[in-house]
Amino acid sequence: MQLKLETYPASKRSKNFEEIHESTNWFEIEYDGWHLPAIEEPKEDCGKWQTKGCLNVPGHKGTQYEGKIFVKTFQKSCFRASCQLCYRKWMGRESNKATRRIETYERKSGEPAKHIIISPPSWVHDVPLRELRKSAYKILKQVNCKGGTLIYHPFRFQKEIQRWYFSPHFHVIGFGWISNVEELYNQNGWIVKNKGLRDSIFGTFYYQLSHAGIKKGYHTLTWFGDLSYSKLKVEEEPNPDVCPLCFAKLRPVFHYGLFGWEPPPETEVEMFVDPEGWRIVESNPYHNAPISNCHAIYKKHKPQYDMI
Ligand SMILES: [Zn+2]
Ligand SMILES: [Zn+2]
Repeated sequence: MQLKLETYPASKRSKNFEEIHESTNWFEIEYDGWHLPAIEEPKEDCGKWQTKGCLNVPGHKGTQYEGKIFVKTFQKSCFRASCQLCYRKWMGRESNKATRRIETYERKSGEPAKHIIISPPSWVHDVPLRELRKSAYKILKQVNCKGGTLIYHPFRFQKEIQRWYFSPHFHVIGFGWISNVEELYNQNGWIVKNKGLRDSIFGTFYYQLSHAGIKKGYHTLTWFGDLSYSKLKVEEEPNPDVCPLCFAKLRPVFHYGLFGWEPPPETEVEMFVDPEGWRIVESNPYHNAPISNCHAIYKKHKPQYDMI
């Protein structure tokens, strides 16, 4: 007998995810509260498809989409590194932000970014991360790294036995002519490897974040030296949550057609369409609201609702 395929995206994603990690100790490995990404169950809304848009037709007058509204679909996300469904969105968002910062410095300085790995000697493996990070910054100064970002990796993977094990180290995307590496090793046992940068900056971040250390209340990426927040200002990213025609903030919308509420397609689309049938969720508290919103809206407006 053939099993009916689940269409809920959560099941597809987590199955894919489990295929990659179920044979290892990915979910169990932990040190001092640090763990790997994507080990927690998604929240109820994670992965749900919704639509937002701008119904401000008068505001679109004079543009090439006069008389139309703008709508786009999107998947709800908690953007938590720990979420089994949303961790890729977290990786994408963080990699984007970090890439913008690195590229801003590249443009300013005319220098290319480098990927550097620094590993402390085993006799300091159990010092708290805060101190280990401080030592890492000192080491980076000594090898003439001018600045960049530090990504903490508490674990390494041993292929032969398919196990993750505790072995703290840092990946650095940074700048400078890396030198004194050998003296440094002889002095205090830290290993500094200059890997250059073969991949794209975004690709390097994305990959390094995929198995970075995660702990509630801690940043996975930290910036130092010439790229610290006090020294380097980066232009803000254009807000994807505004209407491309009139720049108004996008609101949750839904389509109420001939057969009632129509759920959004489960794919990312952006379109300029006729306004007919489209409504803003909050402006229709009592009638024809999307099913998923009915309960919340009913609770919010209960007294008035009862009087009708
Ligand atoms: Zn989530
Ligand atoms: Zn608009």
